[in-house]
Amino acid sequence: MNIARVIVDVPSTQTDRPFDYKIPEAYQHIVQPGVRVIVPFGSRKVMGFVVGLAAESDFNKLKSLSDVLDLEPVLTEELLDLGKWLSKQTLSFYISCFQVMLPQVLKAKYDKDLERNGDVVLEEDLEELFAGRDIVPYAEFEESHITYNRLQKQVREGLIEVRYKVKSRETTKTTTMIEPAHDPTALEEAIVDLPKQATKQKDLLNYFAEQPTAIPQAQLLDHLQTTRASLKPLLKKGLLTTYQQEIYRDPYQHRDFARTEPFPLTDEQRDAITPILTTMNQQDQGVFLLHGVTGSGKTEIYLQSIQQAIDQGKEAIMLVPEIALTPQMVERFKGRFGSRVAVFHSALSAGEKYDEWRKIQKKEVQVVVGARSAIFAPFTNLGIIIIDEEHESSYKQEDRTRYHARDVAIYRSENHACPVVLGSATPTLETYARAQKGNYTLLTLTKRMMDANMPEVELVDMRDELHAGNRSMFSRALIEKIKERIEKNEQTVLFLNRRGYSTFVMCRDCGEVMECPHCDIALTYHRNHEALKCHYCSYEEPMPAQCPECESETIRYFGTGTQKVEESLQQLLPEAEVIRMDVDTTRRKGAHEKLLKQFGDGKADILLGTQMIAKGLDFGNVTLVGVLAADTLLNLPDFRASEKTFQLLTQVSGRAGRHYKPGEVIVQTYSPEHYSIELASRYDYGSFFHEEMKLRKAFQYPPYYFLTLITISHPNQLRVKEAAMKIAQFMKTKLSDQANVLGPTPSALTRINNRYRYQCMIKYKKEPEQRKLIKRILHYYEDEMKEENGLQITVDFQPYQLM
Ligand code: ADP
Ligand code: ZN
Ligand code: ZN
Repeated sequence: MNIARVIVDVPSTQTDRPFDYKIPEAYQHIVQPGVRVIVPFGSRKVMGFVVGLAAESDFNKLKSLSDVLDLEPVLTEELLDLGKWLSKQTLSFYISCFQVMLPQVLKAKYDKDLERNGDVVLEEDLEELFAGRDIVPYAEFEESHITYNRLQKQVREGLIEVRYKVKSRETTKTTTMIEPAHDPTALEEAIVDLPKQATKQKDLLNYFAEQPTAIPQAQLLDHLQTTRASLKPLLKKGLLTTYQQEIYRDPYQHRDFARTEPFPLTDEQRDAITPILTTMNQQDQGVFLLHGVTGSGKTEIYLQSIQQAIDQGKEAIMLVPEIALTPQMVERFKGRFGSRVAVFHSALSAGEKYDEWRKIQKKEVQVVVGARSAIFAPFTNLGIIIIDEEHESSYKQEDRTRYHARDVAIYRSENHACPVVLGSATPTLETYARAQKGNYTLLTLTKRMMDANMPEVELVDMRDELHAGNRSMFSRALIEKIKERIEKNEQTVLFLNRRGYSTFVMCRDCGEVMECPHCDIALTYHRNHEALKCHYCSYEEPMPAQCPECESETIRYFGTGTQKVEESLQQLLPEAEVIRMDVDTTRRKGAHEKLLKQFGDGKADILLGTQMIAKGLDFGNVTLVGVLAADTLLNLPDFRASEKTFQLLTQVSGRAGRHYKPGEVIVQTYSPEHYSIELASRYDYGSFFHEEMKLRKAFQYPPYYFLTLITISHPNQLRVKEAAMKIAQFMKTKLSDQANVLGPTPSALTRINNRYRYQCMIKYKKEPEQRKLIKRILHYYEDEMKEENGLQITVDFQPYQLM
């Protein structure tokens, strides 16, 4: 087996396959699948991943590997396989799929050092290499006559460590540990032999006679009020020993987490957890949907399921949306599992992320809690994978390798024969439909803990406000209730969903929204043509002068910014203190947390913000939540608009009355009769699902049909249109008659970064040839796509962003 098959870091169609390289003698036994290597490629040297070994190659005149970057694989066999699968699923290059699974530090080439582990005695030639030093540059090893094989063996035995020299504060740190070399009786005997005046040495030995475990040197010296001088003779005599221990740059390391014990489960929780635990015991694969509102005890079920995985000697992945990865969340996991938990948080530096990743690789932790990319944790014996808030769109990666963490989770669970638990109060239609069909097991929690109720939701019809002469964006009821709160010293959260591009047209008199007759989505207003367009199917009509429903002339483009809302709030309630949170006020790093803290400390009466305040917010003094314009979300040009509205309203409602004071919610809308708003106000997910499914079926959307979105962009509008037409035409002729190819049509966001955008949407049930056909398109345009200002084509299977 002296040939390595390598996927090189040259992302292009021609190079998207393994290349064979000879393994030079020196690297013979250390090159294994999953290690990174440097190989000559054309006239340069590039990084690559070894994906396999072979004894023979179909090619003669093979070049040799130039360098081996890892002594231990950075990708397990399972992850190599997963990479191949991902590449097929997302039509991304193999190399991109391998990269997406690794921490940043392993994506670039860094210099390395070898570090000996404290006082271990190495074999002679290795001692010579270190020559009294603790750290030597890797290059020195490479120049020595010591084989890679022997070094690898030392590394595996933990005698020597390979370290990446990540810049400045990102390098790994170690601390000196002191440990007794003999048992307590031997230490006590040694005390007797010490000279009388050696009191500090006696203290040290006494300490270890009582506590025969390792302790950081600094802590020990501090504790006994002594210096290294008194430690030295004891080390010399071999009574104590010292070694270096890696300390991780764990942002939570300085905090002690109070240990928490599992709660005795309620009957409902017990019914829900039992099938999960049974599946784990039987080492079966299976997907569970845990459906329950916030506070119904889902997290406790996650914690106890993970506990069972640990008890079985297995590992667990816990995914939460990035925004929910709050200190409180981390605390619950650290509190239950202590140092067995690694946390992947986007606020960590590259070095810190790498540390967390290494704890997994070195099998020092059994649990990882993290956002989307934690699904690639290199565990080898998974017992359970949990995805909380499974409906969150942040589980879908929106660039390059467009994977969905849920799909990856299910694929991995098959490899490991373990359950996947999807938790949510408002599951996606796709997931709930699968649970109804029995593909997933449905587990339901109907009650909130401690008999808390969800807050009462009142819908206010804004058309009535207009007719009563109130032209402001606040209903009379909302203003009244905010005043009450200010008097009682309680707080209000006001939620305005303005995504910066509310593009629909609505009659303020009767609430009529202009919709596409074919697609059941709001038409998009194009100001420069005074036209309304459907960005799914390219239907178009002129902007009407009056409402087609009631003939009122108050029909217009809809949308208000947070700043404008703040101004009019100040006019109506000059005495109120308002904190505004939107992209403008939170641009600076840390601003988000600061504003939330101010509000939490009671520095304001009202928190006004966009969707960024919808999640995770948990303040006991908030007893009123107002949703200013529920319609902006409802009329996004997206077939999931109703689903998103239902999810969001459920979520913001959960922000009121979290603790002992009961909460109230006011939702302002022009369409209170719309099923998603009406049913969200009653927390009736079942009926919502039923209604929504009817429409999905009628208009051929998921979960009845699959979608593929092809987006084409170019600085020149004619060029992009032409290419888009050609692509749509090609797909129309090649796909089966069952497939429905819509477009091409301008995207809802018609221009981003000076590039015009067109899109083409495919609705289908089964098109086995589809990926092959799209690959042909990508190949056809490949040269043009490489140019800086060239064409860009992105393909999204199961798209979530449809703009
Ligand atoms: P969810 O994840 O659905 O929001 P949690 O698991 O966080 O629900 O539970 C809500 C609250 O109830 C938490 O404070 C939790 O500690 C508590 N809790 C959960 N299960 C139990 C139980 N069996 N007995 C008592 N308290 C519980
Ligand atoms: Zn009207
Ligand atoms: Zn349409």
